[in-house]
Amino acid sequence: MTAPTQELRPSRADGHEPAVRLDAVSKVYGRDLLALDRVSLSVDKGEFVCLLGASGCGKSTMLNLVAGLDRPTAGEIDTKGGRIAMMFQEPALFPWLTVSANIELALRVKSSTRSTTKKERRERATELLEIVHLGGFGAKRPHELSGGMRQRVALARALAQDADVLLMDEPFGALDAMTRDLLHDELERIWRERELSVLFVTHNVREAVRLGDRVVLLSSRPGTVIEEFPITLPRPRRTDSGEVAELASTITARLREEVLRHAKPAKRPVGAGAEHG
Ligand code: ADP
Ligand code: MG
Repeated sequence: MTAPTQELRPSRADGHEPAVRLDAVSKVYGRDLLALDRVSLSVDKGEFVCLLGASGCGKSTMLNLVAGLDRPTAGEIDTKGGRIAMMFQEPALFPWLTVSANIELALRVKSSTRSTTKKERRERATELLEIVHLGGFGAKRPHELSGGMRQRVALARALAQDADVLLMDEPFGALDAMTRDLLHDELERIWRERELSVLFVTHNVREAVRLGDRVVLLSSRPGTVIEEFPITLPRPRRTDSGEVAELASTITARLREEVLRHAKPAKRPVGAGAEHG
């Protein structure tokens, strides 16, 4: 059950309305480093899409382009005028500000067109901290929190921007498995409640299967979409469940094939050499 990769899904006709659409997007760095090669992909409204690929295949490049932090060399990106928030592997909080002030700052930036009072922002920050289960931690400084708690603050800050689309670049990659599990649950709940569209980058296959409505596999550099896997397992899923493991191993096999193909481009058929990794 694989969708054609280079084809865009028609909008609306079949009930799908894209929130983000990439059309034949390429990115060249410098003179000739082709990072992305004609990537076409759409994320529907309310859809959770996981982007999976080996390190260096252009995943971060893709998110940066969608976020508007950089421009594609060719192709088009349409974010349908939606508000975009981004979350990185490192929470990047201001260490000298309290947790609450870090979020209030995002609220102030967001509301630059409409003036909000300090009190309103403080109250909103408190609400957001409660959403990510950090009620009562507003007065702490980032260094007083664990890695998982800091990532929750970063999530609250992303939510402060009232985004329609959440771009997440390996946001839980540095966390231990148990903390990651908790954050998966919380992210799933928030995604549902707020009807967010999420583009979530990871190189962790199980994480992709745990979270995604669809897992999109990118080739090694230059990144291009090689396969899409719709994930229809009922939610909430458990990362350590048999069904997740089974699907993950199918996807891993496909990913490994791609990495091997890339590592040995000359002549040797896939599977002829020693297996590793
Ligand atoms: P991923 O996130 O999948 O690991 P990246 O998008 O970070 O991959 O990088 C894709 C390729 O583009 C890599 O070869 C990387 O070295 C290169 N690259 C990324 N950002 C830049 C940049 N700003 N300037 C030059 N090369 C870059
Ligand atoms: Mg990256």
